[in-house]
Amino acid sequence: MKRQNITILGSTGSIGVSTLNVIRHHPGRYRAYALCAHSQADKLFAQCREFAPAFAVVRDEELAGELAGRCRAAGLPTQVRCGLEALIELSAAPEVDAVMAAIVGAAGLEPTLAAARAGKKVMLANKEVLVMAGELFMRAVREHGAALLPVDSEHNAIFQSLPPDFGRGLDACGVRRILLTASGGPFRDTPLADLGQVTPEQACSHPNWVMGRKISVDSATMMNKGLEVIEAHWLFDAAPERIEVVVHPQSVVHSAVQYIDGSVLAQLGNPDMRTPIAYALAWPERIDAGVEALDLFAVGRLDFQRPDRARFPCLRLAYEALRAGGTAPAVLNAANEVAVAAFLDRALPFLGIARLNEAALEALPAHPAGSLDDVLAADAEARRLAGRLIRERSLK
Ligand code: NAD
Ligand code: MG
Repeated sequence: MKRQNITILGSTGSIGVSTLNVIRHHPGRYRAYALCAHSQADKLFAQCREFAPAFAVVRDEELAGELAGRCRAAGLPTQVRCGLEALIELSAAPEVDAVMAAIVGAAGLEPTLAAARAGKKVMLANKEVLVMAGELFMRAVREHGAALLPVDSEHNAIFQSLPPDFGRGLDACGVRRILLTASGGPFRDTPLADLGQVTPEQACSHPNWVMGRKISVDSATMMNKGLEVIEAHWLFDAAPERIEVVVHPQSVVHSAVQYIDGSVLAQLGNPDMRTPIAYALAWPERIDAGVEALDLFAVGRLDFQRPDRARFPCLRLAYEALRAGGTAPAVLNAANEVAVAAFLDRALPFLGIARLNEAALEALPAHPAGSLDDVLAADAEARRLAGRLIRERSLK
């Protein structure tokens, strides 16, 4: 089998590092072709030294110049580029077989879309792409014959639990519902009165997963699950009422599909992103992910609960945005990115995140989201509004 060239968008992040971890164990199958990061130049340089990619990408020319100098001095073949244009180019380049979309947030939209338009195999961790531009992105996947492999653990589990021809439609496949599991995050049982004082450190310490800071905060508000409902809608063409969120504190059942004959098929495993990453890399084959086998005796029991909608208003907002359609999910996503960044900067209290998201959805009506310009305009407008609301401190 020919070695596959992989572009990793967000190689220095949590998913990027796990992806390189899997690639490291399969040097005959995969080559890190382009490693793309934002500003962590030291970490990226260490990755370049180990994997000797053809290209590395950083935020700006200054960082690129520095990194290029270090790569030259180390005798590496790596060419260093910078900026969005380079990300787009290296997602669509003819030499590239597959793209790991693991940039966090809206910044990943255009390169991931470019990969789909170039008909690549797209391994999608960057869920914000589907939340912002689901219609546009899925159309690009269809029209350009891209292969779309979900990396988000829940969607990867659903993908594994559906028949391979699920594209025929969920009804045709006898699917009743998708059961999207959620850990409930670090504040599942915190007294409601204490949520107002929650700190970024507390919000970022997830009970089961080690992840980047943005998704960790999203897990604490359950906005992450809301974004994942929207992601599931686009990936599996599932109406909102067919997607049920199930709180499952152990994070062992990564999600399930309920069929009309009474069967429920689920995928289980230790909470380790290398499993869905290895699945996406090797699909339709399987490779060793370096993950320990699940020990059901050690797990002992599996619990399931309904989500607490009063505690987690972001979940309701995501369903509302999905039902409103058009640019509403892009507005919600942009407001949430601004809100989470402000919370991490201690400029917005934890409960202000949901308030800001709700205010943005109320203030900005949904428009059609058929083009990239529509989506980017809604994103920019929601960011402006969210920034203003935070400056005015009207959400404290
Ligand atoms: P992270 O913060 O650890 O890493 C983000 C990466 O994106 C870094 O490499 C960073 O350099 C890069 N990046 C950030 N802004 C950029 C920009 N403007 N231009 C170019 N690169 C940029 O995040 P993560 O936890 O790895 O999450 C990445 C994506 O995967 C997110 O969309 C997240 O929701 C999704 N995801 C993550 C996990 C997980 O376990 N970490 C699980 C499921 C889905
Ligand atoms: Mg997930």
